[in-house]
Amino acid sequence: MIFEFLKQWRRRRLRARSFPKEWLKLIQRHVVFFPRLSGGDRVELLGHVQVFLAEKRFEGCGGFAITDEVRVTIAAQACLLLLHRRTDYFPGLVTILVYPLTYMVEEKRQIGENLWEEGTVSRLGETGRRMGSLVLSWGAVKHGAADPSDGKNVVLHEFAHQLDFENEAADGVPRLSTREQQIAWAEVMRSEYASLRAADESGIPTLLDTYGATNPAEFFAVSVEAFFEQPRALRAHHPKLYAELRTYFQQDPMEFSAESFTEGQPVST
Ligand SMILES: [Zn+2]
Repeated sequence: MIFEFLKQWRRRRLRARSFPKEWLKLIQRHVVFFPRLSGGDRVELLGHVQVFLAEKRFEGCGGFAITDEVRVTIAAQACLLLLHRRTDYFPGLVTILVYPLTYMVEEKRQIGENLWEEGTVSRLGETGRRMGSLVLSWGAVKHGAADPSDGKNVVLHEFAHQLDFENEAADGVPRLSTREQQIAWAEVMRSEYASLRAADESGIPTLLDTYGATNPAEFFAVSVEAFFEQPRALRAHHPKLYAELRTYFQQDPMEFSAESFTEGQPVST
């Protein structure tokens, strides 16, 4: 109880601190969506960035040096997911590991009932429920921040997984406030996930990255990328999915998105 009170007090003080000018310049230079946010959202976001940077540890890997540019570019994008909601700032996450470009991992992947494929694969990012850490490639982070409407953003993707973990399971369901919301979410996600899997199997072009057909957790992460980067297209092609995400995030990215999309446009473009 007292710990919770002190934590909230400390966070309020961090949010109220004046934001370092150098950091602001870095965000304006690297995070394209930032200047498009409303004035109130920009203030809220910078407050969250102060808390995020005070609480999370960054570690460079593969000879990579962590700079303020790296820290604020990651923090500003991650904190977009926190706007307008009560948040505990990705409570399961302690450390963010950053590699210069892609990094290689040993992976064992099931490709058939009794068939496993093993090998070295390159990754742009990853996180896990019990890891306490999140791994990112700086090359992918920079690319994601610079192009806010290609539907790909490794920071939004990995931090969406962190939101998914907030109610324990990594099942594509974040913490939802009401029973009605949980029921609606389960229904919409089940049918949207099934149709992405079906489209993936038959090779039909999809707006959502077919990596989302891997499992419900990846479906959620991929949907979050599309929600923030291609909101108009997502709303046109998947109105129910868009509505669930809008209720959960309590924000409408159509208000600040740089996406160019006209109604009736085919998904493959
Ligand atoms: Zn993922």
